[in-house]
Amino acid sequence: MDCIFCEIVNGEIPSYTLYEDDIVKVFLDIDPKTNGDTLIIPKKHFVNINDIDLNTLNHINSITKKMYALLKEKLNCEGLTIIQNNDYGQEVKHFHVHLTPRYQGDILNHTYNKEALQNIELVYKTLKSE
Ligand code: AMP
Ligand code: ZN
Repeated sequence: MDCIFCEIVNGEIPSYTLYEDDIVKVFLDIDPKTNGDTLIIPKKHFVNINDIDLNTLNHINSITKKMYALLKEKLNCEGLTIIQNNDYGQEVKHFHVHLTPRYQGDILNHTYNKEALQNIELVYKTLKSE
């Protein structure tokens, strides 16, 4: 399969690996948004949140907590933003979680298109409809 993260897992592409075990690999994002921008991936290929099993997801969450402690201790980050893209907006189709350390004065913008927004009541009714 032509998957860049599987190639990283298999050692075919180098990575700045911070941690690994039987289930996950944790490495620096090659295009960091802040210092220490990190990715956690399962070693097994899952495409997205619909695809991945809960045991693996739980393990990823527990490693996330450990990585935040490491990022705080070593880089003195003051916060952590966790992002996980699925389908649209997902560049690499191998499940991954972005751990982006936050620092006073950094800029991590989530821009959005206000024009595309529907009335919140309408959205709520649609979501609650049978
Ligand atoms: P996403 O848009 O959520 O799929 O994010 C994919 C992320 O993978 C981006 O932040 C890329 O910078 C990162 N990325 C792509 N190739 C590599 C690589 N070889 N090593 C580390 N990070 C990578
Ligand atoms: Zn893969």
